[in-house]
Amino acid sequence: MIMSPIPQNLQAIAASIVAATEESGRAPGSVQLLAVSKTFGPQAVHQAVAAGQRAFGENYLQEGVDKIRVLKEDGAPPLEWHFIGPIQSNKTRPIAEHFDWVHTVDREKIAQRLSEQRPAGLAPLQICLQVNISGEASKSGVAPHELAALAHKVAALPNLVLRGLMAIPEPAEHFEDQRAAFARLRVLYEQLRADGLALDTLSMGMSADLRAAIVEGATIVRVGSAIFGSRY
Ligand SMILES: *Cc1c(COP(=O)(O)O)cnc(C)c1O
Repeated sequence: MIMSPIPQNLQAIAASIVAATEESGRAPGSVQLLAVSKTFGPQAVHQAVAAGQRAFGENYLQEGVDKIRVLKEDGAPPLEWHFIGPIQSNKTRPIAEHFDWVHTVDREKIAQRLSEQRPAGLAPLQICLQVNISGEASKSGVAPHELAALAHKVAALPNLVLRGLMAIPEPAEHFEDQRAAFARLRVLYEQLRADGLALDTLSMGMSADLRAAIVEGATIVRVGSAIFGSRY
């Protein structure tokens, strides 16, 4: 039987996070690793948990909710679950009921529903607004010129805590192009902070562009294939 590479992959990612953090003169521990477990089964999550990973990202609602339930039934330690997929407005309730974070809020209606549907006994839902920093190339995400208005509305909702911004830039091969896209998100984030919003989270960077994202200030990197392997 072939040994699972998941623990080794987690170690390698942790090392690249440390290297990029040091390279950019940032504080050690200022970047959190979100393990994106979409399409991988509960056993893969268990292996990552055994290696010390606690925060997981899911894109597909039913798959994510099922996995959260299985891990709980299996007696896993408390885990932090982040919803990072596209949100349909008629499917917000299971997100509000099962997840701790949502990275992909891009309109007021979704935020209102998540706030209304968040069960009273749970901590507020932690929110990032997804921003479209690649223009025509992407359909998801709020347009940069509409971001400030949305951010102030979301920050005022009772059962949500607005933590920051998230983006999925167009894939770029070269480091400087990757950096330029992440820098656009960082500038928007700094403008909102200057405008009085208490944000602390920049969710940006995936397996292929982690280093550029960290150099530009990412506080959460969302890594799937470099931990769990190829999805195809
Ligand atoms: C799949 C996915 C990731 C992880 O991508 P990898 O390239 O596998 O690291 C990160 N963020 C989002 C929103 C995703 O959908």
